[in-house]
Amino acid sequence: MRAEAEALDADEFEVEWLEVLPPILQRRFAGGLRHPGDGALHPARWVRRLAHHAAAAGAEIREHSAVGSLDELDAPHVVIATDGYGQGLVPELDEIIRPTRGQVVVTEPLGELLFTCPHYARRGYDYWQQLPDRRLVYGGKRDSALENEWTAEEGVTEAVQRQIEEAIEELVVARPSIAQRWSGIWGTTADELPLVGRIPGRDGTWVAAGYSGHGNVLGFAAGELVAAAIAGDEPPELALFDPKRLLERSLQG
Ligand SMILES: Cc1cc2nc3c(=O)[nH]c(=O)nc-3n(C[C@H](O)[C@H](O)[C@H](O)COP(=O)(O)OP(=O)(O)OC[C@H]3O[C@@H](n4cnc5c(N)ncnc54)[C@H](O)[C@@H]3O)c2cc1C
Repeated sequence: MRAEAEALDADEFEVEWLEVLPPILQRRFAGGLRHPGDGALHPARWVRRLAHHAAAAGAEIREHSAVGSLDELDAPHVVIATDGYGQGLVPELDEIIRPTRGQVVVTEPLGELLFTCPHYARRGYDYWQQLPDRRLVYGGKRDSALENEWTAEEGVTEAVQRQIEEAIEELVVARPSIAQRWSGIWGTTADELPLVGRIPGRDGTWVAAGYSGHGNVLGFAAGELVAAAIAGDEPPELALFDPKRLLERSLQG
């Protein structure tokens, strides 16, 4: 974490090293970083707002209409942007994007506001935030059943949900009622960097996926890179995420 703080600082991101954690965190954690400029977004509202802007700009959005095969599509450019959900569309991508499930709960409102910003711990195996109405949203514990959670099946499991509830109890020293439980799928790659660019051997077919759990921010950036390249202005950053790096490895191994 110290190395992370130094790297962020060197790249001029605001970061504070917390030698002494707030009392509520001290039971479970030894130290932390604070990112003063960070925040959280509501993913469903984010998607709806983006869809609104896209539609206003002339995009046609077709819901509830899965593409069964790329042969169905008649377009000079096709972008595969299905992250962990796209299994079966492009076999070579299935080899290098692993569907990964994340389970979440939200509690009934807690008695007081204990957390004023989103928290992220154990390399993303725990994450939580308290909403303004004091409900606690807590996700993670994938590592308690790692092999079962490499899946594209949405759904919650007793084992992971129990671990999440125990983590909440340890954190807030209470056992709040759970209001809702759910899960979602993202796509993980072997080097945990996204795949963004042309798919070799498939003319006009692009990919922007494999964000390894960080696509709300990276997905937006990846979309801009692909859009610029399709419009004929290839950004140099695209080379960093070229799918070739993992496709070649997968063919060799
Ligand atoms: C529990 C959880 C917590 C997360 N936390 C964070 C976080 O804190 N920060 C962060 O940055 N990211 C986070 N993520 C990851 C983030 O949600 C994803 O990386 C992001 O949603 C990827 O966006 P996307 O638009 O590329 O793909 P998705 O949002 O996965 O959308 C892909 C779409 O493709 C559609 N699709 C699939 N196959 C087909 C087909 N054949 N035909 C037509 N449509 C198809 C799917 O229905 C879906 O709507 C989290 C994910 C989960 C599940």
